[in-house]
Amino acid sequence: MWLENVALFAKKYRLSANQASFLRATAEHLTARSDGGRDSEVNIVAACHYCNGRRHRAQRPLEPADFMKRVRIRLAHGRWHGLRLRGRSFNSVES
Ligand SMILES: [Zn+2]
Repeated sequence: MWLENVALFAKKYRLSANQASFLRATAEHLTARSDGGRDSEVNIVAACHYCNGRRHRAQRPLEPADFMKRVRIRLAHGRWHGLRLRGRSFNSVES
Protein backbone atom coordinates (compact mmCIF):
# COMPACT_ATOMS: atom_id res chain seq x y z
CA MET A 1 0.00 0.00 0.00
CA TRP A 2 1.06 3.56 -0.48
CA LEU A 3 0.11 6.62 1.52
CA GLU A 4 1.56 9.69 -0.19
CA ASN A 5 3.46 8.98 -3.41
CA VAL A 6 1.44 6.92 -5.90
CA ALA A 7 3.93 7.56 -8.72
CA LEU A 8 6.84 6.10 -6.75
CA PHE A 9 4.77 3.09 -5.69
CA ALA A 10 3.55 2.47 -9.23
CA LYS A 11 7.09 2.66 -10.59
CA LYS A 12 8.50 0.32 -7.93
CA TYR A 13 5.89 -2.38 -8.60
CA ARG A 14 5.52 -1.70 -12.34
CA LEU A 15 1.83 -0.78 -12.08
CA SER A 16 -0.15 1.82 -13.98
CA ALA A 17 -1.32 4.82 -11.97
CA ASN A 18 -4.85 3.44 -12.19
CA GLN A 19 -3.80 0.03 -10.83
CA ALA A 20 -1.79 1.64 -8.03
CA SER A 21 -4.76 3.82 -7.07
CA PHE A 22 -6.56 0.71 -5.79
CA LEU A 23 -3.71 0.10 -3.34
CA ARG A 24 -3.92 3.48 -1.56
CA ALA A 25 -3.79 3.06 2.24
CA THR A 26 -7.11 3.76 3.95
CA ALA A 27 -8.55 3.44 7.45
CA GLU A 28 -10.79 0.35 7.53
CA HIS A 29 -13.48 0.18 10.18
CA LEU A 30 -13.68 -3.44 11.38
CA THR A 31 -17.26 -2.74 12.46
CA ALA A 32 -18.68 -0.34 9.89
CA ARG A 33 -19.87 3.02 11.12
CA SER A 34 -23.26 2.17 9.62
CA ASP A 35 -23.36 -0.81 12.01
CA GLY A 36 -22.39 1.29 15.03
CA GLY A 37 -18.60 1.00 14.66
CA ARG A 38 -16.63 3.83 16.17
CA ASP A 39 -13.64 5.87 15.07
CA SER A 40 -11.42 4.25 17.70
CA GLU A 41 -8.00 2.58 17.58
CA VAL A 42 -9.46 -0.85 18.30
CA ASN A 43 -11.93 -0.54 15.42
CA ILE A 44 -9.63 0.82 12.71
CA VAL A 45 -6.91 -0.99 10.74
CA ALA A 46 -4.96 -0.14 7.60
CA ALA A 47 -6.39 -1.59 4.39
CA CYS A 48 -5.95 -0.74 0.77
CA HIS A 49 -8.73 1.19 -0.94
CA TYR A 50 -9.83 -1.92 -2.85
CA CYS A 51 -10.08 -4.19 0.21
CA ASN A 52 -11.74 -1.52 2.32
CA GLY A 53 -14.65 -1.19 -0.05
CA ARG A 54 -14.80 -4.84 -1.01
CA ARG A 55 -15.64 -6.34 2.40
CA HIS A 56 -18.51 -4.00 3.16
CA ARG A 57 -20.03 -4.23 -0.32
CA ALA A 58 -20.84 -7.93 0.07
CA GLN A 59 -24.45 -8.84 0.73
CA ARG A 60 -23.31 -10.64 3.88
CA PRO A 61 -19.95 -9.10 4.82
CA LEU A 62 -17.47 -11.54 6.33
CA GLU A 63 -16.16 -10.91 9.81
CA PRO A 64 -12.75 -9.18 9.71
CA ALA A 65 -10.77 -12.33 10.63
CA ASP A 66 -12.57 -14.39 7.99
CA PHE A 67 -12.07 -11.69 5.38
CA MET A 68 -8.34 -11.54 6.26
CA LYS A 69 -8.03 -15.32 5.76
CA ARG A 70 -9.79 -15.07 2.40
CA VAL A 71 -7.53 -12.25 1.22
CA ARG A 72 -4.34 -14.03 2.39
CA ILE A 73 -5.30 -17.24 0.58
CA ARG A 74 -6.05 -15.35 -2.61
CA LEU A 75 -2.85 -13.30 -2.35
CA ALA A 76 -0.85 -16.52 -1.90
CA HIS A 77 -2.26 -17.65 -5.23
CA GLY A 78 -1.67 -14.29 -6.91
CA ARG A 79 -5.38 -13.58 -7.14
CA TRP A 80 -6.54 -10.35 -5.58
CA HIS A 81 -7.12 -6.74 -6.51
CA GLY A 82 -7.60 -7.81 -10.11
CA LEU A 83 -3.84 -7.48 -10.47
CA ARG A 84 -1.09 -9.99 -11.11
CA LEU A 85 0.59 -9.95 -7.73
CA ARG A 86 2.77 -13.04 -7.96
CA GLY A 87 6.24 -12.34 -6.66
CA ARG A 88 5.30 -8.96 -5.27
CA SER A 89 4.66 -7.97 -1.67
CA PHE A 90 2.10 -5.31 -0.81
CA ASN A 91 1.96 -6.06 2.92
CA SER A 92 3.43 -2.83 4.21
CA VAL A 93 2.44 0.80 3.93
CA GLU A 94 4.83 2.92 1.87
CA SER A 95 4.76 6.67 1.85
ZN1 LIG B 1 -5.99 -4.80 -0.48
